[in-house]
Amino acid sequence: MSRRRLVILGATGSIGTSTLDVVARHPDRYEVVALTGHSRVDVLARQCRIHRPRYAVVGDAGAAHDLQSALAGQTVEILHGQEAIARVAALDEADTVVAAIVGAAGLLPTLAAVRAGKRVLLANKEALVMAGQVFMQEVARSGAILLPIDSEHNAIFQSLPSRFEGDLGASGVRRILITASGGPFRCTPLVQLAAVTPDQACAHPNWSMGRKISVDSATMMNKGLEVIEARWLFNAAPADIEVVIHPQSVIHSLVQYVDGSVMAELGNPDMRTPIAHALAYPERIEAGVASLDLFQLARLDFERPDPGRFPCLGLAYRALEAGGATPAVLNAANEVAVEEFLAGRLPYLAIARVIEDALDTVASVAAENLDAVMAADQAGRVAARAALERHRT
Ligand code: NAD
Ligand code: MG
Repeated sequence: MSRRRLVILGATGSIGTSTLDVVARHPDRYEVVALTGHSRVDVLARQCRIHRPRYAVVGDAGAAHDLQSALAGQTVEILHGQEAIARVAALDEADTVVAAIVGAAGLLPTLAAVRAGKRVLLANKEALVMAGQVFMQEVARSGAILLPIDSEHNAIFQSLPSRFEGDLGASGVRRILITASGGPFRCTPLVQLAAVTPDQACAHPNWSMGRKISVDSATMMNKGLEVIEARWLFNAAPADIEVVIHPQSVIHSLVQYVDGSVMAELGNPDMRTPIAHALAYPERIEAGVASLDLFQLARLDFERPDPGRFPCLGLAYRALEAGGATPAVLNAANEVAVEEFLAGRLPYLAIARVIEDALDTVASVAAENLDAVMAADQAGRVAARAALERHRT
């Protein structure tokens, strides 16, 4: 068996390090061709020493210089900048690309991998939220294979028929149920939400993740982005998708069929499971994750999301219904608001208000090409920045 040759975009992040953890368990199956990071040069240097990639890419010339010094004596080509990331995403020497950059910065490199017809293991949901139409057209054109790493979508993928070809109705699917943990503030008295801090928002009860997605989980914008992600991955209409709060995060999502059957994927909340599934698909490999102990599971609970507590979820449905480039506006405004919140410059409850203002301000346009998507992203950022001042206190 020839080894799969991997490029990992966003190797230094939470998904990137979990991917390398799985890869290190299977040196007979995987070879690392390129790793990209942004600013955490020390982490990338350590990864390069262990995994010996041919290429390592960082954000700028300063970081490239630091990486070069840290890796003196090792044969690795060090590159920097956004174009270099997109270049390694399309390398002839690789067949599989793990897309694990956070946010809009992941769009162009992920699309480069798609255009080059790679097996693309997708964690970077923001790329699909922003540019779903263009993205899926490119997948169809290039023959790229898209495998979801996001745990909910990976669970849905596993629960759909293996011959699923994009028609839920023809497959007898009545509905997709996406589970959500409800995040750290599911039970926090509403009056206390005004004063919650970035560290509290990032203290997720079940999953250990990067800070941006952790805040998204607290606001449930993450679930909103995932509804839009599911729309594109599974060709689902908004009405085909329902969000269910399931605080234990053991059921990672479900598919309900017309005959009453419900298929689901269960497991301990550890991203190495969906990562290993996507890496090895259609085979199965060890992921380092303990078996789910049903006897230890006291119970599984379910609730409807409260729209008053989680206004971001409603905003995401609004953007999905508006269609066109509006999800790109939503995503951009969310990135601006979350960054401000994480920097301590915006109160938690203002995140949703900033996004709502941006959606009110930016007119809906079609998203048939990348230029339109990028313009909507910019317009969303401008509108969100203008809204910040109104909502700082
Ligand atoms: P993270 O913040 O831990 O890591 C982000 C990675 O992206 C890092 O390697 C960083 O160097 C790189 N990066 C950041 N800004 C960049 C830029 N401007 N240019 C190039 N590279 C840049 O994030 P994460 O939690 O690993 O999440 C990564 C993606 O996976 C996100 O889209 C997130 O929504 C998705 N995801 C994450 C999880 C999880 O458990 N962490 C689960 C599902 C989906
Ligand atoms: Mg998820």
